[in-house]
Amino acid sequence: MDLLGEHTVTTAEADRYAARVADLLEIFAGAAGTWPDDPHLERDPWGPVPRVGVSVKPTALAPRFGPLTAEEGLDEAVTRLRPILARARELGAAVTLDMEHYGVKDLTLELVSRLGSELPDGPVLGAVVQAYLRDSYGDLLRLVEWAERTRRAPLQVRLVKGAYWDTETVVARAEGWVSPVFEDKRETDANFERCARLLVARAGVVRPAFGSHNVRSLAYAVACARARGLHDGAVELQLLHGMAEPVHAALRRLGLRVRVYAPVGELVPGMAYLVRRLLENTSNESFIRHRFVQGEALESLVRPRGGRRAPSPARFPTPCPNGRRPTRRRPDRS
Ligand SMILES: Cc1cc2nc3c(=O)[nH]c(=O)nc-3n(C[C@H](O)[C@H](O)[C@H](O)COP(=O)(O)OP(=O)(O)OC[C@H]3O[C@@H](n4cnc5c(N)ncnc54)[C@H](O)[C@@H]3O)c2cc1C
Repeated sequence: MDLLGEHTVTTAEADRYAARVADLLEIFAGAAGTWPDDPHLERDPWGPVPRVGVSVKPTALAPRFGPLTAEEGLDEAVTRLRPILARARELGAAVTLDMEHYGVKDLTLELVSRLGSELPDGPVLGAVVQAYLRDSYGDLLRLVEWAERTRRAPLQVRLVKGAYWDTETVVARAEGWVSPVFEDKRETDANFERCARLLVARAGVVRPAFGSHNVRSLAYAVACARARGLHDGAVELQLLHGMAEPVHAALRRLGLRVRVYAPVGELVPGMAYLVRRLLENTSNESFIRHRFVQGEALESLVRPRGGRRAPSPARFPTPCPNGRRPTRRRPDRS
């Protein structure tokens, strides 16, 4: 379950969000307790897989969660998450920290490492890595090394491509910053596969999870696991509720372990979520659009796409609109 919410600006709003996460955990755990056993879904090679998983947005938990007030924001987020994680451990639930825009990426990884170091035995803690970021392979490597040194329970890592491509591109261009995201979709795809290889190679230290609706990306993850001699249950495939439903059905038919990520909450806090999904599904680069709107053949969509396979260096500076001279400014992240 993904509790809908975006950046809060007051303490009262952040408290409310934290209270709603706590309620969601209780309600969800109560409901999931009545489900029949399904060993296929509930075990992986590293132990029990929680039925209950809740994803939270760090910026909704702490109004000052940002690069200019990093320490205060981090402390606020830790304070609100501590009781949630303690309860999740009692309930056997997982908590994942969603990854948002680039400005809070380092801070979110720092939050994962603070919480994960405080609670090395669990609950199941999840982090997200966005393959569209030029930094992501290095971040993933550091995350895996940190998990190996610190955690006794594996860290769950959800690999995604990233939901803020338009925002990152527009903001970087407007500010005259180097864009943190790849500018060619083929680079994101190639990097996703590179990160997938790393995740699967370090499975056990991490629990690999793949959030995508792109059949090639999902198949690549499963093929990596098989090539390493792992059974299919070693990787979790995650899809969004209501999107690419034929893909959900096909993965289930193949007996793969699928988790559906469902947004819950109210319409207004959900507007930004809806806009991200709209941008994604209508983008020229979208797998969903190519397959389900334009009806392109699957064989051509899963074929390795030609072109640049290795990540290209960041173009610097990003061309500025309205003829301003490019400057060497840097993003205001910590
Ligand atoms: C279960 C689940 C959880 C998710 N959680 C998060 C999360 O915590 N944080 C988050 O940011 N996203 C999250 N996402 C969204 C995800 O990052 C993608 O936006 C979405 O899944 C679309 O990617 P795809 O692999 O399904 O499809 P595809 O169509 O293969 O890829 C589309 C993606 O490619 C990238 N892209 C598009 N155009 C370009 C370009 N010109 N150059 C380079 N790259 C480009 C963008 O990332 C775009 O979203 C989640 C998705 C799922 C399914």
